[in-house]
Amino acid sequence: MSTPQQLFFLMREEYTLLFYMQCLLLGAIVGSFLGMVISRGPRLAQADSAVLYHLSFPASHCHHCHHSLSWWENIPVVSWFILHGQCHHCGEPIPRWLPGVEISCGLLFVLMAMVFHHPGDIMAGWLLVSFLIILSVLDWQYLLLPDCFTLPLLWLGLLFNTFSDSVALHDAILGAAAGYGFLWALYWFFRLAMNKEALGYGDFKLLAALGAWLGWQSLPYICLIASCVGLLFAAKERRLNTALPFPFGSYLSFAGLWVFICYHYGG
Ligand SMILES: [Zn+2]
Repeated sequence: MSTPQQLFFLMREEYTLLFYMQCLLLGAIVGSFLGMVISRGPRLAQADSAVLYHLSFPASHCHHCHHSLSWWENIPVVSWFILHGQCHHCGEPIPRWLPGVEISCGLLFVLMAMVFHHPGDIMAGWLLVSFLIILSVLDWQYLLLPDCFTLPLLWLGLLFNTFSDSVALHDAILGAAAGYGFLWALYWFFRLAMNKEALGYGDFKLLAALGAWLGWQSLPYICLIASCVGLLFAAKERRLNTALPFPFGSYLSFAGLWVFICYHYGG
């Protein structure tokens, strides 16, 4: 009699291509759900305790003409191409980040399945990818890092390291505290020294969550990569030395995922 774990390893070893195709498909379907969550992000940020209600109602619809989407308008990636990137009813453009999220999520699900070997670790990786995609797009689009995503991500990181041996639990707890504390201190330094609010409280909580997943030792790398990539993008868009807000949470999410993959790649 095969256990689910044996079946998992059999599937992965004997039907490798089919296994990764299934991961890609699952990732694209989850990405489609994440797209719906992101599009409701501004409402979720204010929802407080009614997050589940706002996630469930109303059903998927066009945000311009409010018509409910049929099943064929909801197929990950495919629907965007069938509809030529426009609402079937009113012709309003569907944001390009939507198929981008679905494709990225599919590819990152495959990557997680390649990096990890144990089914539990793969699922934890998928969870982290899903949260970081939501947070990075929400910060990029709306400059929002809602507590309803950053705080559960922090707790999930501590839980992951309670049951996994990848990061010692005391390093994860220190990582959460140091991640929050470092950006909090930086925020107050800029505020008192230059009277400027360079960061938001969501950034503190996101770095705390990444510290909980990756331990305090990874925080310098995450901050360095996020700052370098952020500065490169800002320079590309000629936004240096301007008062325009800076979606640091998007770069933190990217850097956190990068360090997570490097940390676990190869065992
Ligand atoms: Zn419409």
